Amino acid sequence: MTYYVTTPIYYVNGDPHLGHAYSTMAADVLARHMRQRGEDVFFLTGTDEHGEPIELAAEKEGITPQELADRNAPKFEQMARRIEATNDFFIRTSDPRHEAKVAEIMQRVHDNGHVYEGTYEGWYCPRCADFKTERELGPGHTCPIHEIPLEREREENWFFRLSSFQQQLERLYEERPDFVVPDFRRNEAVSFIKRGLEDVSLSRARLKWGMHLPWDPSQRMYVWFDALLNYVTALSFAREGEDLTERYWPADYHVLAKDILKFHAVIWPALLFAAGYEPPKRMVIHGYLLMGERKMSKSLGNVLDPDQVIDRYGADALRYYCFREVSFGQDGSVSPAGFEARYESELANDYGNLASRSLAMIDRYRDGKVPDAAIDESLAASFDGVGQRVRDLLDHAELSQALDEIWQLVRRLNQYVEESRPWDLAKDESQAGRLDLVLYNLAEGLRVTTLLLLPYLPETAERLLGALQEPARGLAELGSRGGGQRVEKLPPLFPKLDQPA
Ligand SMILES: [Zn+2]
Repeated sequence: MTYYVTTPIYYVNGDPHLGHAYSTMAADVLARHMRQRGEDVFFLTGTDEHGEPIELAAEKEGITPQELADRNAPKFEQMARRIEATNDFFIRTSDPRHEAKVAEIMQRVHDNGHVYEGTYEGWYCPRCADFKTERELGPGHTCPIHEIPLEREREENWFFRLSSFQQQLERLYEERPDFVVPDFRRNEAVSFIKRGLEDVSLSRARLKWGMHLPWDPSQRMYVWFDALLNYVTALSFAREGEDLTERYWPADYHVLAKDILKFHAVIWPALLFAAGYEPPKRMVIHGYLLMGERKMSKSLGNVLDPDQVIDRYGADALRYYCFREVSFGQDGSVSPAGFEARYESELANDYGNLASRSLAMIDRYRDGKVPDAAIDESLAASFDGVGQRVRDLLDHAELSQALDEIWQLVRRLNQYVEESRPWDLAKDESQAGRLDLVLYNLAEGLRVTTLLLLPYLPETAERLLGALQEPARGLAELGSRGGGQRVEKLPPLFPKLDQPA
């Protein structure tokens, strides 16, 4: 089976920040997990390079929008690499291949009769690059997101007949209860649709940076149309000489933040209907990571800066913290102090120590060789069915719940060490069989837990699975494996760093 997952494409009018990293890390967890299941995965991320926000940012700096895009897009590519994203392609919407495909698709939308010319008047936020409906206005005609005064705009432009897709969208949501997750976001989209859809402006006459409408070059396309289409166009040119559209479309998951829900959950499926494509299968909407607590931390100051965290603690720790601290889908607070607390107590102590101790005991008591023994029934209950539970949760993009499910194994294994006290067993020759059993089960428990953790902690999992002499990375290998292999001791997976940088 194929699995196509995307992140939003990021506006190149600024630098990447934690919010961008968060969406990309989430999509990466899903992509890695599905690869472990043997699926044919395609993972797309990229940059959104047209529209007024970019035009304005470039103007401020005295450079062209293309220069701004060329300067900033590599920062987003770099960010993807730093957080260990395994994207299969990075799309930039100023790529002429994207533009050609957008022109072709939008011409079809035009030819199918889904656009018309009209006059638009409304409140426009240049930073959202969007008109606000009366219902969306903040106090005193301001943008509720950017808290800036809106501009009253009136112009002749082209409209997309969103209203004519009212019934089709209602039916889509009825037929597919999981089209948008979590549920409360789905309800938001449904109630937006049920209030009655209005046609949306498709082009603007005064834009200087954006694609021309193929049938009316005096107008430029409203950036959202060209941006949303990236999810489809990328497939047509991501592989030289190959069109992947048939193979991967419709997308399995669009991962996005709540501020762009309306575009994805309402306009996007309608645009796809208008162009003759199937809608995506599902989208998952995540909340914001809020920098609530301003308490100074030992090493990171008072802002959780992803670059700083990665420099000091590695990308795995950042990935882990974001999905562990804030339930994926909800808003939640993150802080450097909170990061350090989880790093120390969960990554360094619970998991890192468990790994080092287990490997060290196998080294000391059994000369580095995992004994061949049976599964300990007292441990089996915790591991029974865990692979399936994690699959089910990640099928619904429940990233935090799946991680919690896996972390219970880490906790259980630590408890197992305390209960079985291998250091005492080692002092008593008559307990040799029992010690074999405990050491085998620790190695086996660590192996299974680490395979499941791999999408969250890819670099750490790689090291630990290497030390455990586990060549497989797939979830088919979760079933128990015999002993006999030689393991290696490891330096701490998550070293304690108490000193300020
Ligand atoms: Zn705004």
